[in-house]
Amino acid sequence: MPPDPQQCHAIAGILCAATEQVLWPQVQPWLARRPGVHTLVCRVGRGEATYYSPRGEGVHLLTYGRKMVASKFDAALAAQWRTGAELLERNYFAGELSLPAVLAHTCCHEFGHVIQGINGWISRGSIHNRGFYRIVDRIHQSGAAQEVREFIEHEASARGLPLVFIATPSAAPLAEFAPGELVSFEYRGRPVLAKVLRVNRKTVNVKPVKPRMAADYFRISPHFLTHHR
Ligand SMILES: [Zn+2]
Repeated sequence: MPPDPQQCHAIAGILCAATEQVLWPQVQPWLARRPGVHTLVCRVGRGEATYYSPRGEGVHLLTYGRKMVASKFDAALAAQWRTGAELLERNYFAGELSLPAVLAHTCCHEFGHVIQGINGWISRGSIHNRGFYRIVDRIHQSGAAQEVREFIEHEASARGLPLVFIATPSAAPLAEFAPGELVSFEYRGRPVLAKVLRVNRKTVNVKPVKPRMAADYFRISPHFLTHHR
């Protein structure tokens, strides 16, 4: 059963709490060395939109949409969000596509925009740039991302909200794929043709052939691959 709007609202509220209680305190020593006063405000939105918006006077607003939470309960949709793709591409949480990993990474990603905003880097054009990923990489490498994940899992289980995908595509056995073979998968709603580079224990490394992409290869769950014939 897909979660109802109230459950999604509660989970989005947990994402707010994780951001305020786990991530925000960790940057206080850094903030103390900077001029001005900064305030973080997290709120749950009614739609899908999940975003950062600076409100002036040092107020930084993060919105976690409750429909975003609902859509991430579907593994295939979760993989299509930028945050889901980042787990696979950048190997966050060891490239594990699970609901707790996806939700925790959503907090880390959005919080990366808060740091970007405090640094004043937002106005310089592209936002998902190298500087942004340096921030997000650090959130993962420092162990903060793992703390966020544990916080979310603990709070959700305390409220009887199971964090498991409701729809998982049927697994194509890894053994079905072989290096050199052409496969296709969907990335942000568009079909991608790729070549299998190697088959790992749980994932497959594929190199996009068409369209060409910035990423050299994707580490992807076999659930999302189909044979190209
Ligand atoms: Zn973003």
